[in-house]
Amino acid sequence: MNTRQRDEAYIAHTYKRFPVELVSGKGSLVYDENGKRYIDMGSGIAVTSFGISDDVWIGAVTAQLSKIQHTSNLYYSAPCAELAELLCKKTGMKKVFFSNSGAEANECAIKVAREYARRNLGEDHYKIITLEGSFHGRTVTTLSATGQEHYHEKFRPMTPGFLHVKPGDEKGLSKLFETEKIAAVLVECIQGEGGVIELDAGFAKAAQDIAHENGALFMVDEVQTGNGRTGALYAYENFGLRPDVVTTAKGLAGGLPLGAALLSEKVENVLGYGDHGSTFGGNPVAAAGALSILKRLDPDFLSKVKEKGAFLRKKFEFASGIEAVSGIGLMLGLKTVKPAAEVVAAAMEKGVLCLTAKDKVRLLPALNIPDGLLAEAAEIIKEAAAL
Ligand SMILES: *Cc1c(COP(=O)(O)O)cnc(C)c1O
Repeated sequence: MNTRQRDEAYIAHTYKRFPVELVSGKGSLVYDENGKRYIDMGSGIAVTSFGISDDVWIGAVTAQLSKIQHTSNLYYSAPCAELAELLCKKTGMKKVFFSNSGAEANECAIKVAREYARRNLGEDHYKIITLEGSFHGRTVTTLSATGQEHYHEKFRPMTPGFLHVKPGDEKGLSKLFETEKIAAVLVECIQGEGGVIELDAGFAKAAQDIAHENGALFMVDEVQTGNGRTGALYAYENFGLRPDVVTTAKGLAGGLPLGAALLSEKVENVLGYGDHGSTFGGNPVAAAGALSILKRLDPDFLSKVKEKGAFLRKKFEFASGIEAVSGIGLMLGLKTVKPAAEVVAAAMEKGVLCLTAKDKVRLLPALNIPDGLLAEAAEIIKEAAAL
């Protein structure tokens, strides 16, 4: 059997894969089983922040691998302590809880919100408001938080305590605070899986204010938008927000599984000994990889991400078959006249890997993709989208 046949035979059919086996790569170039070259405009869904097999990242990861690959959270370990310090110093947050994924980072945020509200607002204040069209993960509880009914259908009963409002519906949000006992509001600044849709900045600020006026927490899911993706370290900075909890994962460790919940002063001591945990969370190899990424996300680098984003966006202006461009920095969505999946398939044929998000073509290239490759990929995507 070849890889494709073996995969079909033995892996649960939860993923509809593209008809390509990726075997190697360097930077923003990746090669399939036949040696065909692709420009990577998806980064494994915003994960390989500095591209494939980045030398600095490999150096950091292999150095840690040859020291100690796992300690458990029963012992102190330098990489995760250093990473937590760096995350706090760069964001002004006070504490970090490490997990392995975005869903788990959100699980932590949900636990923090429930316990914070139990202490400060009362036992019955456990409801969390999220937005319609949001995506917060695949565990039963983070699916419950996810404001997309079709994800819920097969797995009921959902975890109780989640309410959804339409993005932009400030009145609806206020009303929920009058009629329900709310612990927190949780939003993505740019809905990723939901179709690369930015929140209206006025609504985002209002949501934060309404939460705070009612003693509830304002929490931002930066699993996809975080770690330099939008040209800010975290996307909430673009919106002038000051969240109480920030969750992140995907690009944090540049290709190793790592999630984090960043906790502000207000909630830094909400979870105590034994209240939460993870066997692998904060693994030293993943943390060493993350340190090598985060150290490079300085203002100079981030402004280059912004420039690359503007450069890429400009390529699609007035392009045939592209009706609109959404997103910020290097997280862009193209509303195409042709079905997005068709455009992505055509681009792949021509040597560019892109993603879809609902009805959009979604672009999430490595943050350091060279301008030449960005221009080459943009031309191919335009050809694929053209009428
Ligand atoms: C991908 C994603 C998640 C889930 O992350 P996993 O690592 O797959 O658990 C949660 N929230 C957002 C916004 C995401 O994009």
